[in-house]
Amino acid sequence: MLRRSLFLAPLLLAATQARAAAAPLRVVASFSILADLTRQIGGERVAVRALVGPDADAHSFSPRPSDVAALREAQLVVRNGLGFEPWLDRLLGAAGGKVPAVVASAGIAPRAMEGGGDHGHGHSHGKPGAPVADPHAWQDLKNGQAYVRNIAAGLVAADPEGAALYNANAEALVGRLAALDGWVRQQVASVPAARRKVVTSHDAFGYFAAAYGVQFRAPQGISTEGEPSARAVAALARQLKAEGITAVFIENMTNPSLLDRLAAEAGVRVRGRLFSDALSAEGGPAPGYEAMFRHNLGLLVPAMKGEAG
Ligand code: ZN
Repeated sequence: MLRRSLFLAPLLLAATQARAAAAPLRVVASFSILADLTRQIGGERVAVRALVGPDADAHSFSPRPSDVAALREAQLVVRNGLGFEPWLDRLLGAAGGKVPAVVASAGIAPRAMEGGGDHGHGHSHGKPGAPVADPHAWQDLKNGQAYVRNIAAGLVAADPEGAALYNANAEALVGRLAALDGWVRQQVASVPAARRKVVTSHDAFGYFAAAYGVQFRAPQGISTEGEPSARAVAALARQLKAEGITAVFIENMTNPSLLDRLAAEAGVRVRGRLFSDALSAEGGPAPGYEAMFRHNLGLLVPAMKGEAG
């Protein structure tokens, strides 16, 4: 018996190692856009869970016990950084604090945005009116390419045997994002310059605005949390009329009632649902990062032109 177990032990060990190698790398991404990029790069070598899922708001995220459990089991965490996930450090601490993390926005020059009360999200720090880093860097596809390279480097560090696959998938994705960036520029160029103005429910498009030359206005006091005053809504409605702005949008993770009120007061129509901080579920209009841009431009361009649609 002793002889036999000694003989079997190395075989069992080898079998266990083979299973371990075949098991996908367990990755937790803070929100759906990072989860999509990580899946594109990792393919079947990774099993990705998003903490903040499709159509959910990272600004007001309440972690579940299963999220702590997932972080405890995770081999890599992918986070945005730039203050987008103020709840994540505490969550990582609750999960034991030992998981390696990659910051997708590392190396990106952050834009400033108004902080505190005006913005009103969980990811804005500082006093009202004080500038804070704008976390929504993924809305510029050049930054998206940097995200892909950062995430790929994190995957390679966590799973060096997958390096060739991760790097090949990342380079292919970077190429697609560069092409998509060119397409977005063409789309915006088809709109007369004076009409490149949009109103939406929270200021998630600062990087998009800077990269592609579209002005985005998020009503003061309008955020994913809290109700603005009737006076604030009326003031913005007057501004829309005065400037002839026809592109009014809600975002997928925010409450639509407010923008409905605003559009009704300004005599325009809410033109649909932009995706900013979360993707749609599978089968929805924006289930991936690239699909999000195609969907958003498909709504933005005719709305800015004032076309029926
Ligand atoms: Zn946001």
